Amino acid sequence: MTAISLGMPTVPTRLAERRKSRQIQVGSVAVGGDAPVSVQSMTTTRTSDIGATLQQIAELTASGCQIVRVACPTQDDADALATIARKSQIPVIADIHFQPKYVFAAIDAGCAAVRVNPGNIKQFDDKVKEIAKAAGDARVPIRIGVNAGSLDARLLKKYGKATPEALVESALWEASLFEEHGFRDIKISVKHNDPVVMVEAYRQLAAQCDYPLHLGVTEAGPAFQGTIKSAVAFGALLSQGIGDTIRVSLSAPPAEEIKVGIQILESLNLRQRRLEIVSCPSCGRAQVDVYKLAEEVTAGLDGMTVPLRVAVMGCVVNGPGEAREADLGVASGNGKGQIFVKGEVIKTVPESKIVETLIEEALKIAEQMEKDGIASGEPTVAVAG
Ligand code: SF4
Repeated sequence: MTAISLGMPTVPTRLAERRKSRQIQVGSVAVGGDAPVSVQSMTTTRTSDIGATLQQIAELTASGCQIVRVACPTQDDADALATIARKSQIPVIADIHFQPKYVFAAIDAGCAAVRVNPGNIKQFDDKVKEIAKAAGDARVPIRIGVNAGSLDARLLKKYGKATPEALVESALWEASLFEEHGFRDIKISVKHNDPVVMVEAYRQLAAQCDYPLHLGVTEAGPAFQGTIKSAVAFGALLSQGIGDTIRVSLSAPPAEEIKVGIQILESLNLRQRRLEIVSCPSCGRAQVDVYKLAEEVTAGLDGMTVPLRVAVMGCVVNGPGEAREADLGVASGNGKGQIFVKGEVIKTVPESKIVETLIEEALKIAEQMEKDGIASGEPTVAVAG
């Protein structure tokens, strides 16, 4: 039976169907298929420094990281993998360049997956049979991680530079070597530092295989630039349903990468939203310092996990409208703030009391949401000028 339209406009909750990919299991985290898009990062410590690496993994776990990668450039690092894999609360992927023997070490160590870079593992192609056997027996997936900066010399010669076609050919060639041995427990990344090349590479790759894809803009840069590049590139791909797990690469502490990654997924409704502050940009009509107000409210509600939307608006033009749409909001003017809860003005307070009143009311609403079983979802705080 066809539903009868009542004339209400519908808002798409997602921009596209997910691309159909095969699902693999990275430790406890499913990747691909209908599994939620997961967020990853990579430690910056020396892996052989087990204490420091586990400490950083704990920080990443607390910030929402679901899978962590650790570099494995030396025997000392390989020796540390077993303890790290055992003590980490999230799946650990060993990142192997140059030395195929560390792939076996990582599998033996109990790592949840191994990342190999076809361009950087000498004699790798000769070892595929043994790697496929060891990984298959241990049910450890392999990530084929092609990177523009270390593209296979043969393909660099063929294409002249790291074009999307070159990245994709490198990845699919390596995958085909594993397929010859019946191994398909694979995910693939084709990273480039240019979001345009990267997006095109992933689009081509998505059309040519059903492996789950790990998205990344490599060497994206310092926090601001890297955030923008990653948001644009991941947004372009995820909005078309392409991408099963993501890593934002920033020249910043790894926990920052997780924050950005989670925010990107929340913005696309690929993950339930948590606290959301709707604050106006301010303008010549603002009657309060909107930036300060928004920052103070954000800081005061830091860590809130329920889907609360808080509107912080600087004046009475859009303020009441936005504040009404939010769970909680303030519209400011004449040294006062009108406080809205679920669309109703509940009180008017002097400017100096706006922040504390909003936080107080937010906590009450959050408590109620938790009682009602809304653990996380679509939060909003609106602050209007
Ligand atoms: S809510 Fe008011 S102060 Fe804020 S941008 Fe809009 S008009 Fe300007």
